[in-house]
Amino acid sequence: MKFKLLALIIMCNCFSQIQFSLAQNASKKFIDAANFDMTSRPGDNFYKYANGNWQKNNPIPATESRWGSFNELQEFNLDACKKLLESAASKHQKKGSFLQKIGDFYKSGMDTIAIEKAGMTPLLPFLERINKIKTKEDIINEIAEQHKEGIGPLFSFYVYQDDKNSASVVPQFQQGGLGMPDKDYYTKSDERTLKIRNAYKDYITKMFELIGTSPSDAAQIQGRIFEFEKSLASKSSSRVELRDPVKNYNKLEIPKFQSLLTNINANDFLTKLGASYHYVLVGQPAFFEAINTKLVDTPVEDWKIYLKWNVLRKASGYLSDDFVKTQFNYSKALSGQKEQKERWKRVLGVVDDNIGELLGQEYVKQHFKPEAKKRMLELVDNLARVFEKRIKGLDWMSESTKKKAELKLHAFMRKIGYPDKWRDYSKLHIGKVYWENVVAANKFSYQYMVKKLNRPVDRTEWLMSPPTVNAYYNPSLNEIVFPAGILQFPFFDNAADDAFNYGGIGAVIGHEMTHGFDDQGRQYDAQGNLSDWWTEEDAAKFKAKTDVVVQQFNQYKVLDSLHVNGELTLGENIADLGGLSIAYEAFKNTPQGKSEEKIDGFTGDQRFFLAWAQVWRQNIRDEELANRIVVDPHSPGEFRTNGPLSNMPEFYKAFNVRSGYRLWRPDNERAKVW
Ligand SMILES: [Zn+2]
Repeated sequence: MKFKLLALIIMCNCFSQIQFSLAQNASKKFIDAANFDMTSRPGDNFYKYANGNWQKNNPIPATESRWGSFNELQEFNLDACKKLLESAASKHQKKGSFLQKIGDFYKSGMDTIAIEKAGMTPLLPFLERINKIKTKEDIINEIAEQHKEGIGPLFSFYVYQDDKNSASVVPQFQQGGLGMPDKDYYTKSDERTLKIRNAYKDYITKMFELIGTSPSDAAQIQGRIFEFEKSLASKSSSRVELRDPVKNYNKLEIPKFQSLLTNINANDFLTKLGASYHYVLVGQPAFFEAINTKLVDTPVEDWKIYLKWNVLRKASGYLSDDFVKTQFNYSKALSGQKEQKERWKRVLGVVDDNIGELLGQEYVKQHFKPEAKKRMLELVDNLARVFEKRIKGLDWMSESTKKKAELKLHAFMRKIGYPDKWRDYSKLHIGKVYWENVVAANKFSYQYMVKKLNRPVDRTEWLMSPPTVNAYYNPSLNEIVFPAGILQFPFFDNAADDAFNYGGIGAVIGHEMTHGFDDQGRQYDAQGNLSDWWTEEDAAKFKAKTDVVVQQFNQYKVLDSLHVNGELTLGENIADLGGLSIAYEAFKNTPQGKSEEKIDGFTGDQRFFLAWAQVWRQNIRDEELANRIVVDPHSPGEFRTNGPLSNMPEFYKAFNVRSGYRLWRPDNERAKVW
């Protein structure tokens, strides 16, 4: 599902998604010049101009790998959620009630005495099960079992809407099985990669030592696991290749699926997964062909250590301190983060991640303001009207494609705040052991997912929890979704002027709408089906227009030798440019948009662009930045600010940007899609 989710920021760890509640302050400066770096000219580096002083005054805390607007606000929210959880955990709650579940889950994670005392005990049932494996059949059973427990070895499996028939849900298989974040980490030989790879190898070795393996055996096991994963990496598609929904759509009736997986009984396997169905979707057949061969070519002992490693890797954060520290040493190398976050913050993130709709229910009761929803609906309406007008006025699109584009825009479903219908967790039992609770929650989610087979699609479902600071467009439901968590400063504030709100949440709404028409989203129709509704000529013109965006972002250099990957980030860059253009025009329809009046020394137009820059302000560690260049489909904050603005004549006018300024691009080089 993540594969298709087009979110505003990547979901890297549960923390960056948690929400916060900010007390309203009537005298608050929504745009504060104290954060500017007046020595930078806005036309040379607008991001630095708007955020330079803020960056200087807000170094990254040792417990973080980046620090920005999102994190600042998160602190408020973490406190709010902590209060909810502590209150739930401190009282006797009725068994099975949702307060008992969130309270006990939190308590189990905070009970370090019990966790230390237990050591590796919670792992024993898993290790014993794997020790008993003798045959290929046993391996297949274990793979299925681990998928049901949320450990998810070897590949990614889920039940979700069929891309080409959005009215039905179907079992889907995608490549996966790697312990490092990308196939590149297994093969590249630059210094940065080598450092991470070595840390990963140490991580494997130490974890096996912690479960009682001798150092020499652990070192040898490490080598075999690494080679196992490297062979999976070599058969994996790149992230850019994964962006093509047509190439990654392969509908296989069961006989065909069987001929792909000749070493497995396909029907039996689906039954074991609890997902019997008459056909499946396979993202990358070549990858599964390789797995099929691996099942007979790879010694059973290697399978066993690989499957053990998956358990160890998934469980390490929930066990005693020696496991947690070993895991952290690796993530330190990957992200540059210096110290562990405080325990309560980590546990809170786990609760939100696993039973977010339970925590969310309590959260919205106290922190969601209905007036924010009303205002959001108005903003969405305004933006949609402007988008429609802009589609009608496009000089490069034919009338027939325009009609279909409008149809799609009108069909957008809007979800704001929190779900109308909460997920029913009554079958989930939360007890005293932290790792057992995580597995129970995973099993519950898995069963919830597979039960969707043969049922109508539930269009009310949310893919993010209400406290999440993020937003997404989901092509299969053709919906835009804004959790309560994002309806806050610096995106939105009911007390702020329109320029501020349109440059913040307005551009975010436009961004999510544009995803319906970016390089991936445009391939889905109004009903959420992957079906080409464009004329060939219009598609070619779109491609030519977006190639300009690819070239533009390929030129942006980060750190020493790394560049933004223009193809990987294309969808997000189109969405930022489109979202800002639509939001700006919508802002110009407001009274403030029509006036020249200044607030705190800035015109409405200037405040609009400053609000956008403020959303993306951050400091980020080199390691985190380098990793994101490989895995994150979003450009770094600096280029999410400067990139789209340097294509907008409205920005040039607002800040008097002319030829000779670094952000100035000649008319014929400017990207304009929507
Ligand atoms: Zn996005």
